[in-house]
Amino acid sequence: MNLKIVEKIAKEHPFNSRNWNYQKIIRYLLSDDNNRIIEAMVIWHIKDGKVVEFLLELSNMYNCPVGCQFCASGALDKAPYLLESKDFWQQINIMLRDNNINPNDYERFCISFTGIGEPSIVYKQTGQFMSEVQEKYSHVTFIIGAFGYEPKCFDYWKNLDLRIKTLQLPFYSSNSTMLKKIVKNLPSNYSFYNNVLEALKYKENAKYNKCRVKVNMLGMCGINDSDEQVDEFIKILSPVKDKIEVRISFLNYTKQAEKNGYVSPTFDRLREIEKKLKTYGFECYSFGNISNEEIGCGQLVQNKISSKN
Ligand code: SF4
Repeated sequence: MNLKIVEKIAKEHPFNSRNWNYQKIIRYLLSDDNNRIIEAMVIWHIKDGKVVEFLLELSNMYNCPVGCQFCASGALDKAPYLLESKDFWQQINIMLRDNNINPNDYERFCISFTGIGEPSIVYKQTGQFMSEVQEKYSHVTFIIGAFGYEPKCFDYWKNLDLRIKTLQLPFYSSNSTMLKKIVKNLPSNYSFYNNVLEALKYKENAKYNKCRVKVNMLGMCGINDSDEQVDEFIKILSPVKDKIEVRISFLNYTKQAEKNGYVSPTFDRLREIEKKLKTYGFECYSFGNISNEEIGCGQLVQNKISSKN
């Protein structure tokens, strides 16, 4: 890819998280010569006025073959295109240059694959890239948000001695019919729980011992927010509850989510779920921003494309 900036949006706002309460973001729309647009972000996590972490969030593909029905990233107008290490470097270099930033100036520097794309599909490319980044920035850590489309990713990354601090897996529903409806291209052998076990195996064998496994319960009204559905979630994860963290996330608005009828529960409901999980011994927190700050992944790209049509 030969990427160039087509749009840049700076925002800052309070944010509900565990270790910080405010964030400054610069979102980049980057286009290649074939008009494939991806998103990348520079983020400063701030706690009580002090930057606690500097983070770069990258796209790992254009479009996404998984096709989660609430996600704008999986509903773009051209065929999915998988990015390589040199494309990840380009995203980083463009953003660092544009902001005149040296990551070595930050005590905590993190690169996150939680934007457009499913990192488990490009596990070799992301693995190569992370190894290269570690060579250049010895203090870097990585966050990987993977649906778990290709569970062999965990084994592959395990052999690379990576500084992965978070492996995050989403939970949508325990009901297989519902799951097939939400995920257009759900692999026939998909198992959320097996993916959690694979991620835990990674963590247990990783040399970088700060790795944690996080389950991201993505709140969706009528799908996983009722008392019965929360009970089911508790039942599934109880055997590993002492080894994981749970994040209960606000579902960001996207046109795709609206079109397909996926709506986030209120923050009050997320907090009730959090409280219930805590009484069952889970380590958990609520996460998100209730105003529509255009932070749903792929949302800006989708807006850009529809504004051109
Ligand atoms: S949520 Fe992730 S895995 Fe699902 S379509 Fe979007 S980018 Fe792909």
